[in-house]
Amino acid sequence: MKTTLRTDITVKEICDGFVYNELEGKGLFGLSGRLTIQPEYQRSYIYADGKRDVAVIESLLKGYPLGLIYFNTVSDGKFEVLDGQQRITSIGRYVTDKFAIKDENGLPQNFTGIAANKKDLIMETKLLIYECEGTESEIKEWFRTINIAGVPLNEQELLNAVYSGPFVTLGKAEFSNSGNANIQKWNAYVAGSANRQDFWHRALEWVSRGDIGGYMSRHRHDTDIAEVKTYFDTVIDWVSGVFTDVESEMRGLEWGRLYETYHGSAYDPAEVSRDVRALYGDPYVKNRKGIFEYVLGGKKDSRLLDVRVFDEATKKSVYARQTADAEAKGVSNCPLCMIGHDANRERIWKLSEMDADHMAAWSTGGATDAKNCQMLCKTHNRAKGNR
Ligand SMILES: [Zn+2]
Repeated sequence: MKTTLRTDITVKEICDGFVYNELEGKGLFGLSGRLTIQPEYQRSYIYADGKRDVAVIESLLKGYPLGLIYFNTVSDGKFEVLDGQQRITSIGRYVTDKFAIKDENGLPQNFTGIAANKKDLIMETKLLIYECEGTESEIKEWFRTINIAGVPLNEQELLNAVYSGPFVTLGKAEFSNSGNANIQKWNAYVAGSANRQDFWHRALEWVSRGDIGGYMSRHRHDTDIAEVKTYFDTVIDWVSGVFTDVESEMRGLEWGRLYETYHGSAYDPAEVSRDVRALYGDPYVKNRKGIFEYVLGGKKDSRLLDVRVFDEATKKSVYARQTADAEAKGVSNCPLCMIGHDANRERIWKLSEMDADHMAAWSTGGATDAKNCQMLCKTHNRAKGNR
């Protein structure tokens, strides 16, 4: 990463063109429009408490150091404040008379009211600023290291920062806007919240098939998000069309991957609904989140449902019986190894090396009791699955 330490930029230059958005509680611009003070991914201004904002101004008047400020170089001559936005916004608000500080006599004074020499003191103060420029991974690493405002940014907030621009702004307006009327519908399938970027993150993950960084990099300067939005809506419409009942376990599933895998198959929603309800009522089904893919896949892969519920006592007693028989015959205690032709034919596996298997598959009505239990070595158990 390339960093340049600047010690020549004055408060006056930083505050040139300062705009404070009262509605959003954000300091917006400075440096004659070349500096974005609180970019989209940043949190709102929190220093307006009559203490922290005042302390910033008093520090300037007393010549105390304000600490390092970091700028992220966005493009030639344009910057975003990465760390220091609270301090800069405090200064900007003071010099535009948004709050007052008390003078020697305890009287509140706004910027316009203070003596000329004090004004100069503030305006001519030079700030310590690092201008930083780097690759995606460098900037991410650096964000994590300086840990902005003490609250770590999540993955998508980091990506928004790294690829900030018109594309991110439009994406956030659609997917990270808690006033969007579609959020209630999205919430049935996508876990998280708008203001932590979870819908935007999922929409990007789906359209990019998981390569969010690459996708954002290619589309950084786009002035529309049509592809993301269309793909996201297509996936949501597909899910809600196939599964007419909304279950809480649907929230947060990998619908993008499921859509890609299964959208070419035809489903009868009424039949799907009956299957889902039957599986919800089946006491052997441990993983309800797996029901949806199990049904989409034609009810073949019951591993998705985690139905293997033989208890430890059953496993131990079946293991003991199988192992005693095997040792008497000089063969493996895995019935599938025993009939094989390799070195494992006579191998006695330890209990920890085996798993319980339904001899008659659960999906064909096989019960989960000792009579229907056999122990297989892990390799054979995995290969057999529970068809
Ligand atoms: Zn085996």
